[in-house]
Amino acid sequence: MDGQAREALAKLRRFLKARWEEEDPALFTGVVVPPKARSQTAPAQSSPYRAATGAQVARSPAPPAGNRVSGSGAPAPAAGNKGSGSGAPAPAAGNKGSGSGAPAPAAVPGLHESGLIDPMASDRGRALLDMYGKTKDCTRCPLGRTRKEFVFGTGNPEADIVFVGEAPGEQEDLQGFPFVGPAGKLLTQMLSVIGVHRERVFICNVLKCRPPGNRPPELPEIEVCEPYLFEQIRTIKPKVIVALGRYAAQSMLQTNKTIGQVKSRWYRIMDADLIATYHPSACLRYPPNKKVVEADFLLLKARLDQLKVRA
Ligand code: URA
Repeated sequence: MDGQAREALAKLRRFLKARWEEEDPALFTGVVVPPKARSQTAPAQSSPYRAATGAQVARSPAPPAGNRVSGSGAPAPAAGNKGSGSGAPAPAAGNKGSGSGAPAPAAVPGLHESGLIDPMASDRGRALLDMYGKTKDCTRCPLGRTRKEFVFGTGNPEADIVFVGEAPGEQEDLQGFPFVGPAGKLLTQMLSVIGVHRERVFICNVLKCRPPGNRPPELPEIEVCEPYLFEQIRTIKPKVIVALGRYAAQSMLQTNKTIGQVKSRWYRIMDADLIATYHPSACLRYPPNKKVVEADFLLLKARLDQLKVRA
């Protein structure tokens, strides 16, 4: 990198850091600001984020053959889930009403109870909705019996960017949408710093059900659930994938390596560019990790600019 490029990068870095601090100084002190109570979702309507219906193109290949060591001898998935077949539910506005007093999700026009925005507006949306109908009652692993809500994923079915997290936490389990708790607030802020709108991307997790007490996912659960993630990605066909944390990185890259070993670099997988970085929760637990994520989001922004992705 020549001197001019280095100076430009340093300038961008200073600018983003300043904006980041302006957005929420608490982000730099590790103080977690709980999400605001949110109003009931607006009735389903046409989304301003709706992309033009894209013609389906050839399906991406499956992820590379795994090299993760399956130490525990994962049991084979139980035959079939209890899904409702292909009958996708009718679009419904609002949250999934756990009755638990959890705050409702933010009002997002066109938000379906699955988490998809305007799913009927595109082939990919309809395919994802069909998948949601078939998977939402899954009991292939024990988490299917302890979860409150199946957390399919949320956002634009035609997103150019997919963010993959680990598993639903408490708020996600109550509300049925990913990244709606403290880690989600941080993620949303990080996205806004690089000019990415949450509603224009797709956000999901490796596990669709909450591990009790937010314990780490177990290998048999991952092995049963990650095919859903791969199917989502094959359907969405994003240009860029961001793996948030160790579990997302290990699933997407089919590796046993630590997040420290794989982060901050680009990979090519499932016809997309992939970068892994620390999970937002890891930033909340250990604020210096934010510096790494900040730098990785700069790499992300540069790649989005290069690919002319507007999100
Ligand atoms: N952490 C995750 O990995 N996913 C969520 O949806 C929330 C917190």
